[in-house]
Parts: sequence; C-alpha cells; structure tokens
Amino acid sequence: MALSEQHHALRHAEPAHRLRGVGAPTADGVARRLRAAGIRPTRQRVAICSLLFGGGDRHVTAEVLFEEAQRIKIPISLATIYNCLHTFAKRRLIRELFVDPTTTYYDTNTSDHCHFVSQVDGSIMDVPAAGIQLGPIEGVPEGLHVVDVQVVVRLRPKVDGRSISPAEDLSGVSTTPPYPATPV
Ligand SMILES: [Zn+2]
Repeated sequence: MALSEQHHALRHAEPAHRLRGVGAPTADGVARRLRAAGIRPTRQRVAICSLLFGGGDRHVTAEVLFEEAQRIKIPISLATIYNCLHTFAKRRLIRELFVDPTTTYYDTNTSDHCHFVSQVDGSIMDVPAAGIQLGPIEGVPEGLHVVDVQVVVRLRPKVDGRSISPAEDLSGVSTTPPYPATPV
C-alpha cells in the first residue's frame, strides 16, 4: 500500500474507532495526551494510543493491539506497534509488566498496583487496593531510589473445593469462571 493510501486509511480509521464506545478519546485529545508525555504525536502513535485507551484500563500485548488495528483497518505493522509501546512505556504513558517471560504485557493503568495472574489461561487481573499492603522498602543502596515495584500473585484454581498443587498438570482445567470473563 502506498504511503498516501496508508495516511488516507488512518485518517478514516479514527472516527470509526471513536464510535466504538462513549467516552473513547478523540484524536485531538490523544495528541494532547502524547504531547504532555513528551511524545511527538505522529498519526500512527495517535492511532495506537486511541486503541490502547479506547476501552478503559487493560493489560495488553503488541499482538492483541495489532489484531485490533487490523480488524478496524488501521494499516500499522506489528514492528511499529512494538516501537510505539516501547516509547509509551519509556515515557510512563503505560507501564511494562513483568508477568510472563515469553510476552511483554503493558498496563494502561500506571498507578502502583499489583497483579493476579492465572496459571490456567495467563489472564491478568488487578489486585484490589485493599488486597495487598506493601510496607516501606528498606535497604535501598546508597545513591539509588526505587522507581518501580511489581508484585505478581500467581493463582491456580480449586477444583471441587480442592486446591491444585503447583506440580499438577493444568491442561484439563477449565478456563471458565471463577475467572472473570473479561479480566482487567
Ligand atoms: Zn494492572
């Protein structure tokens, strides 16, 4: 696809995306948000940022965003999405999560909070604020300060009231509730 066609498609993809939900960010609002974070609002960055923040807080991978972009005909490569997410995380617009050694997840909620991760399906959920209390961190080496604390609480289901031990195979375990259908 020629560059001019890509720009045309991008220009016309934005209004379609805005229609997805009441309160979804406008392209102007997203551009302002990017500038405020010190990020130059290129058309592709605006499109990716709109996708990211269009549906409330969530934990997302580059691959998921790529699929969403393809679905609404935004012509952005996976490599561009990787680069954008990396830039956004560097500027603290989103938070990189260290929950899965094979995939990088990003959190649109950059506030300090911990995560539950299901070992059945890998779904990630926020631990409620009252669910965990972190005390002050002592012993930080002289001259350094804490910039990020990540706590991951890994979960296994109970089946028929019985906990499944870490050594047991989970391949036959259902991914239906008690897991939330749409984990945050
Ligand atoms: Zn989160």
